[in-house]
Amino acid sequence: MGSLDDKSALITGASRSIGRGIAEGFGREGAAVAVNYHSNEEGAEETVETIEDAGGSATAVQADVSDENETKELVETVIEEFGGIDVLVNNAGVLEPSTLAEMDVETWDRTISVDLRGAFLVTRFVIAGMLDRSEGRIINIASQLGIKGAEELTHYSAAKGGIIAFTRALAREVAPDVQVNAIAPGPIETDLLDDTTEEWRENKKAEVPLSRIGTVDEVVPTAVLLAGHGGDYYTGQTLSPDGGDAMH
Ligand code: NAP
Repeated sequence: MGSLDDKSALITGASRSIGRGIAEGFGREGAAVAVNYHSNEEGAEETVETIEDAGGSATAVQADVSDENETKELVETVIEEFGGIDVLVNNAGVLEPSTLAEMDVETWDRTISVDLRGAFLVTRFVIAGMLDRSEGRIINIASQLGIKGAEELTHYSAAKGGIIAFTRALAREVAPDVQVNAIAPGPIETDLLDDTTEEWRENKKAEVPLSRIGTVDEVVPTAVLLAGHGGDYYTGQTLSPDGGDAMH
């Protein structure tokens, strides 16, 4: 018996890293999982394979979450395959550091489009079914930087702060039928940190009270909690597996 038996879930950006970890974690808990990806089909298929090898059920679906038509098709495809979506995890995100003075408008727009507009678009198409059934869970992956901000990441911090506010506003709007929460991880060892320097990593470790960068496995249990019965009395909250980086 898993905590997500008979549930179906859509995880955006699940071809690698945190999204993959959540997809596999949900699969282990018994959910049928739709693994969304943008460009990394191989990675998405590996996520599906891992879930299926463990006896679960999963399917990979390509879509750019910042595109209205693609997100509509994504949601329609998953509903057709699974009969509905019980849990949505808006995880897809990009991070391209730049000072504000040097930031071109395209970089700003790309970050906001994927990290904030993407969550709006996918949720926009998923929410009707949840409201019809008077139940559903939405988990938005924010970041501790949406709370504390960071240099060279004004666009990312704005998008993630927006995700936290979006979570609270939507949680009020769709309660008590649908529960909407956010997870704001701290620095987590994934491909997203590929472009950071050794100096950045050392400074980061010194800044985080638990003195280290976290792992994907340290984020997944929070998502499992919010998706299952353990999350029954949570809505509008932002939970932070972040080593104490942003105490709020
Ligand atoms: P990652 O390793 O870079 O993976 C990003 C995922 O997002 C990939 O699966 C990628 O798909 C997908 N993606 C990117 N653009 C997309 C688009 N337009 N449409 C659909 N999917 C798209 O990142 P991560 O570290 O796992 O981060 C996952 C989430 O956690 C992000 O929202 C990030 O902001 C947040 N977060 C991360 C950290 C951290 O330190 N790592 C900390 C706090 C919050 P493809 O591979 O198919 O392109």
